[in-house]
Amino acid sequence: MRAGWEVVIGLEIHTQLATRSKIFSGASTAYGAEPNTQACLVDLGYPGVLPVLNAEVVRMATLFGLAVNATVARRSVFARKNYFYPDLPKGYQISQLELPIVEHGEMVIQDADGNEKRIGITRAHLEEDAGKSVHEGFEGQSGIDLNRAGTPLLEIVSEPDLRSAKEAVAYLKKIHTIVRYLGISDGNMQEGSFRCDANVSVRPLGQQELGTRTELKNLNSFRFIEKAINYEIERQIDLIEDGGKVVQETRLYDSDKDETRSMRSKEEANDYRYFPDPDLLPIEISDEYIETQRRAMPELPDAKQARFVEAYGLKSDDAAILTASRALADYFEAVVEATDAKAQIAANWVIGDLLGALNREGKEIEDSRISAVDLAGLVNRIHDNTISGKIAKQVFDAMWDGEGDADAIIEAKGLKQITDSSAIEAVVDKVIEANPSQVAEFRAGKDKLMGYFVGKVMQETRGQANPGQVNQILKDKLKG
Ligand code: ADP
Ligand code: MG
Repeated sequence: MRAGWEVVIGLEIHTQLATRSKIFSGASTAYGAEPNTQACLVDLGYPGVLPVLNAEVVRMATLFGLAVNATVARRSVFARKNYFYPDLPKGYQISQLELPIVEHGEMVIQDADGNEKRIGITRAHLEEDAGKSVHEGFEGQSGIDLNRAGTPLLEIVSEPDLRSAKEAVAYLKKIHTIVRYLGISDGNMQEGSFRCDANVSVRPLGQQELGTRTELKNLNSFRFIEKAINYEIERQIDLIEDGGKVVQETRLYDSDKDETRSMRSKEEANDYRYFPDPDLLPIEISDEYIETQRRAMPELPDAKQARFVEAYGLKSDDAAILTASRALADYFEAVVEATDAKAQIAANWVIGDLLGALNREGKEIEDSRISAVDLAGLVNRIHDNTISGKIAKQVFDAMWDGEGDADAIIEAKGLKQITDSSAIEAVVDKVIEANPSQVAEFRAGKDKLMGYFVGKVMQETRGQANPGQVNQILKDKLKG
């Protein structure tokens, strides 16, 4: 950060709720269908049709509110946000303004110094998504695809509590994790199920009043969000230091050029003429309903992380990695369940080898080619000394390539560890005999040569001799 300046950021996150049908109609929300095959008369805004609220979105918003310690409103109201756009046939979007379903929440993140920091969540409200304009494949024209029209969104608005691009990303990642834990959104950023607008301003350090903000749009990956905010911070400070003023406007991030540029200024901004939607009743929920949802809450990431440290004795950083998604945490627990080795050993295999292999192929844990039970089988063979850790890497690769489970591969490739002392002694004798000058040097005090002898024995046994025994026997014999 440039000296003398403070950055202020507030995020508006649009998360698509994972319902099967739309928020006010029975049309499917499945992604990737042929254009305009999943828009019914309600989504098209035909005259005379009436919206009917999908009860699932109320449940999902309630779960989110509870997860972020918010107030879940016993009564909330849908409002019409009026504007004209080709992808919005009704001429208004149904949203919530004055009485949103969720208010006054919070989220704890880690700041740059690793300290806990509370970020306020102003509100989270329900709304419908609009359709999409399609430009590709149309010469001099635009296509309109209304499949997305009426898809349920939860818009999560933060207080302007974030103080750097890094904090903004940490907050965003945490919300991303939580909506997936709750099972209320798939969080898929490529498909637009999790989108974010960033409001950014700067002010001289010590100034109370907030600076003029710009709103950044088109941020569809964590990396771009960080880059766009950092670009915007520099741009605003440069502007002010050169005697200029930041104008309140919406800016688009261009990831190819790594810059933001003006899209529309406040002067051109719409006046939406919000008013309560007369076609929809207020959402009214009881205390009992909220308690039922509270009881159905899954264990959330922070609690799970603490439990992994407590119950399994994991390092905190490892517990954080393993609880990044519910599926990964479940996988790890299934490995622990099926192995006799320490949980930390299981964690090392999941984090190091398995996540490494998944990352190389850009895959998620759900697509792992090795099941939790099979990975536990491999860990067990190290634990019971059938194979060494080093040979296990080879077995892991073969498992990844679909050659079978650990036992089958060890058997087929003859990888069993040699633990028979007399067999190892025989090899050690052979190595000593074949290397008289190195033996002499070693005996004259060149201890470093131990590694050389171990290497030779391992070479002779194709890496299969038990390393501990090799070391011990070599030591004894070399003493002479
Ligand atoms: P709007 O209704 O124009 O979208 P809001 O007041 O609802 O504006 O704020 C939208 C987002 O902008 C919130 O996340 C809020 O925290 C953030 N925000 C508001 N003022 C500032 C500011 N001066 N600098 C940075 N972020 C801001
Ligand atoms: Mg806004």
